[in-house]
Amino acid sequence: MQTITTQGRETQCLPTTVEIDGSQGEGGGQILRTALALSVITQKPLAVHNIRAKRPKPGLMRQHLACVHAAQAISDAQVSPVAVGATELHFAPRALRAGQYEFPISGAGSSMLVLQTVLPALLLAQGESVVRLSGGTHNPMAPNYHFIKRAFAPLVARLGARVDMELRRFGFYPAGGGEVLAHIAPATGAMQPFDLLVRGDLQSVVAEAVCAAVPKAVATRELDELARLTGWDRSAMQQLPARQDEGPGNILLATLHYTHVTELFSCLGAHGVSSEAVARNLCQQMRDYQKKPEAAVGAHLADQLVLLLALAVWQSGKRASFSCSEVTEHLRSNMAVIQQFLPLRISIETASAPVAHIAP
Ligand code: ATP
Repeated sequence: MQTITTQGRETQCLPTTVEIDGSQGEGGGQILRTALALSVITQKPLAVHNIRAKRPKPGLMRQHLACVHAAQAISDAQVSPVAVGATELHFAPRALRAGQYEFPISGAGSSMLVLQTVLPALLLAQGESVVRLSGGTHNPMAPNYHFIKRAFAPLVARLGARVDMELRRFGFYPAGGGEVLAHIAPATGAMQPFDLLVRGDLQSVVAEAVCAAVPKAVATRELDELARLTGWDRSAMQQLPARQDEGPGNILLATLHYTHVTELFSCLGAHGVSSEAVARNLCQQMRDYQKKPEAAVGAHLADQLVLLLALAVWQSGKRASFSCSEVTEHLRSNMAVIQQFLPLRISIETASAPVAHIAP
């Protein structure tokens, strides 16, 4: 129920359902996750149509279903019967509750995308939460554990809230089986938005390679090639320990600490892909970001930051802006979904780097 006050009289009425077309923009799973997060936060019922219409296999996949169930668990939502392949969803949250949650996702579905669904709402809940996630911790086409911990979590902290991440077990795509704990602490009072217009100077770089049940020589070759391509000192490079009962899997990570932002780039090893090719792929991602020095955040961080900042603008009534290396369809889709739920204006200014402005 929502309370509307007209001419001094309070009336209770059912909030209007927000209708989301899942085929808009990038037409993938992110539209669903952002819509679920905002439905839980605003307590507005949600209807999503044409779910993942632009993907080769449209409709909910197991990992998206896990996101629906996670959003349902934290909000006691009524949900229409849904199964893998469903292209329609009706979701009516009843109450957002902080607490202890366990969200397992079978196989190597991305547990970080489940976190992406529930984290924004739990940042606004009454009290702290601990979320145990199991499944994939390092997947392609999704934020990995290290990205959330090092690039995303510091931005949450700048808003005045906190997410502390703890990796219990690596879970690499395609085997999965990893485990992460996320300790979530809302801000005291409203989250405070900020401007993030420049990245600042490069302070330090760290390259890490992980081999879980994969020969250590793979990591050595990846780091050697990365050192050759970047000229980085070998002292900035290390192998991260993984137990041999984790995995199998391998990832190469590069963390770039700038004065105002930390960015993390990664490439997963895969059968038939040489260690040198993994290093070259990672290097290309870094170069794409570094050749846009006017931009504060990279393409992936941009679509994740816009929701965080929008929530802080909505709570505080203040403005926020950030510059980014690229305006992706993911960013545009998130902007569109956010504006369907919240009374905000989000625009993109074309400058030497695109700047997103979020205003109440
Ligand atoms: P689909 O519907 O395409 O199968 P999905 O539900 O798995 O997709 P997308 O809708 O593509 O996911 O959203 C992926 C999310 O993961 C986006 O927020 C994107 O920015 C993020 N992401 C993808 N790759 C990376 C990466 N390398 N580092 C950080 N974040 C990433």
